[in-house]
Amino acid sequence: MLAPYAVRVEDTRGRRFPEAPHPYRDDFQRDRDRIIHARAFRRLENKTQVFTRRLSDHFRTRLTHTIEVAQISRTIAAVLQLNESLVETLALVHDIGHPPFGHSGEHALDEAMRKFGERFDHNLHGLRIVEQFEERYASHPGLNLTFEVREGIIKHSHDYLLDEHPELAEYMLDLKPPLEAQLIDHTDEIAYNTADLDDGYEAKLLRLEQIRQNVGIFDRFYREVDQQYVAAREKLKFNEALKRMLNHLVTDLIVNTRFRLEQAGIATVEDIRRYPERLAAFSPATDAERGEAKAFLYENLYHSESLRPQKADGEKIVGELFRYWMSTPGSLPASYQRQMLSESPARVVCDYMAGMTDNYILDQYRRLAGKIAPR
Ligand code: MG
Repeated sequence: MLAPYAVRVEDTRGRRFPEAPHPYRDDFQRDRDRIIHARAFRRLENKTQVFTRRLSDHFRTRLTHTIEVAQISRTIAAVLQLNESLVETLALVHDIGHPPFGHSGEHALDEAMRKFGERFDHNLHGLRIVEQFEERYASHPGLNLTFEVREGIIKHSHDYLLDEHPELAEYMLDLKPPLEAQLIDHTDEIAYNTADLDDGYEAKLLRLEQIRQNVGIFDRFYREVDQQYVAAREKLKFNEALKRMLNHLVTDLIVNTRFRLEQAGIATVEDIRRYPERLAAFSPATDAERGEAKAFLYENLYHSESLRPQKADGEKIVGELFRYWMSTPGSLPASYQRQMLSESPARVVCDYMAGMTDNYILDQYRRLAGKIAPR
């Protein structure tokens, strides 16, 4: 049932530590199950997606966002006859390296690391989690995932340069990732563009008229729904329009990716890897509408005045705690102190903090209040 350009599990480049085959689960299914049972996966429940302060229990968390990405990804993978288990695994793991407090947490950790000539990047951190920090096996560290899953963690959203990341040489940075990984960048964005309109509207930070005036793709579907259900409540029309927008983005991605595969004469995974561009893509018209929706959300939600205080708080807490632990490494948990024998203090403090949930880092901040030197 797989397309000729799908990744076949029997062709996997395998695991770092060889394992006996499982009687009824293939290697990618096992990897998916390992992610779901990982501690870092459970922590996603208490990591911010967009709203740091829990304004409402029905807004997305990093975990529910991840589940939405997995749902959208599986649908597309099935239609394109890609390897569904690999796609699902990559979707479930795609945000596992995110620190507390969403993008402000990531930004603050990166800023703190730059002062020591290092960087924080959630994809690279995700790889460290599955390779080193998860403790599930007596015989080896990490989750011992297949090559294709580790490669997808690194390569799903952008291309890293070998000059800058010689440690990633094994992931063939000069080649594109398989379609299963390429999809994730798009399904991630479909999920958050639609979900953030939903949560932003529900939080009353975005108004219907404002969305309709600035997000063409949403307005098109809203008009359609408005004619069809004249008397329906605004919230129901909003939901209908958003659902149709999501469906349109998914369908366009399927149709246009299939078109590009035909145009490029793609017959194998190797063809996809060697093609100079990524082949998973929206059509130009839909891509422009996607870009408009994203730009709207940046301007009116992520960078809005309303969310500025929560972002500033997150950055302050991360910055101050980072400086505190750099100046008192003896107060870190023993395992992190041991890690300092082989890695830079900044990397160790960064790893410690990146693993924290929003609740945990807030608890630490309260516990250490008074000991932390304000800047
Ligand atoms: Mg994501």
